[in-house]
Amino acid sequence: MSDAPRRLDCREAADRLYEYLDGELTPADEAAVRTHLADCAGCFSLFGFESAYLRFLEARARARNAPPALKRRILDQLLLDPGDADPA
Ligand SMILES: [Zn+2]
Repeated sequence: MSDAPRRLDCREAADRLYEYLDGELTPADEAAVRTHLADCAGCFSLFGFESAYLRFLEARARARNAPPALKRRILDQLLLDPGDADPA
């Protein structure tokens, strides 16, 4: 048996994006996502962008006591149409 994290494809990595950024993954899953990011330039740049954006949003969401489902919905909308996000 190996301790090496299992490999994710891009879709699996994206599916875990929110949990990864929120620190909600198990250590094994977090390692798997991190391994994928190290191997995949496309996901790395995307996740880097999302990470910066999420930190900003998270601070706002926490201040408003937004439930996780709402926070996720806000993020989904940003992913679909980033240009429509109101920074104010
Ligand atoms: Zn990828």
